[in-house]
Amino acid sequence: MVSIHDCAGIEALRHRLRLDPDMLRRWRNAFFKQHRDADEAFRELPPLQRAELAAAVTCHHLELLERHDSQLDGASKLLFRTARGHRIETVILRIASGRTAVCVSSQAGCAARCGFCATGHMGFAQDLTAAEILDQVALANRILRPEGRSIRNVVFMGMGEPLHNEEAVYQSVGILQSPRYFDLAPGRILVSTVGIPDAMVRCAERLPRARVALSLHSARQEQRERLIPLARRYPLAQLRAAAAAVAAQQQRPLMIEYLLLDGVNDTTEDLAALADFLHGLPAHVNLIPYNPIADAPHLHPTPSARRREFAASLSALGFRVTVRYSLGADIAAACGQLVHSR
Ligand code: SF4
Repeated sequence: MVSIHDCAGIEALRHRLRLDPDMLRRWRNAFFKQHRDADEAFRELPPLQRAELAAAVTCHHLELLERHDSQLDGASKLLFRTARGHRIETVILRIASGRTAVCVSSQAGCAARCGFCATGHMGFAQDLTAAEILDQVALANRILRPEGRSIRNVVFMGMGEPLHNEEAVYQSVGILQSPRYFDLAPGRILVSTVGIPDAMVRCAERLPRARVALSLHSARQEQRERLIPLARRYPLAQLRAAAAAVAAQQQRPLMIEYLLLDGVNDTTEDLAALADFLHGLPAHVNLIPYNPIADAPHLHPTPSARRREFAASLSALGFRVTVRYSLGADIAAACGQLVHSR
């Protein structure tokens, strides 16, 4: 079987079936741009070729097991099963401005084992294929179709460290941006990493128009290592150099994600270290509230007054900063909460 996301495979099938390129385009548009069901999209083709193509092409690579809609905000969490039997989660974010984003997983579980993250406590199960990453977006679009919405932004902030699964992530971003497929504006795709210096630079080179975000969470080496064990391999100086290279390559500020943890990374000393890290770096800092998880009872969110103070201090020092809010906290779909429990 050929995946619907496999450009070369579909083109070879088109030749073999002597299918008119315009017909193929209509079929692909029905699936990727009008978000119609696979059977409905196949009806764009002449009956004979429809049957042959349908028998040779796999349109979906994930099985939807559960859907949970937030009662607080516009988040929906989708639980999928991969062909290898692992469970992954995807979050649809209906943002108040009217935009709709999807937070996709790039792995089932994660080997990075960040202490504040539910996925990190699961351990690693599998890398997702590009088709499995893309199917999260395709299936989210199908769910949104009756609401008259479609995905405009894709963020790689779900389960997994995207830069531990580079090729599948690069391939999937290429197809998300391709006018023949999802046709998303390149700047609306964000790849977020906890910081693997060489891979960050490669990512900016391979995806010059997608955005890269660095989850910094602390600019003090020891504290960062406590939060992100992977940081032991990558000293802050090396990470800072990679961050500067990414910003230069992309010719725009790098997104820095900073989860605020009470008494852990929100002190005056932390602020000074962060200011040092940011000095001379074109960057935009997003301060994110922490969503507590059962596996880390010692970590607590920074109170909102301190969060505002931290933001105001950074801003007064001349840095660009936004205080973000997570959606989906009531369905364990907010940042760092994704985990399958079975
Ligand atoms: S924060 Fe990201 S990189 Fe760290 S354990 Fe969680 S999923 Fe993995």
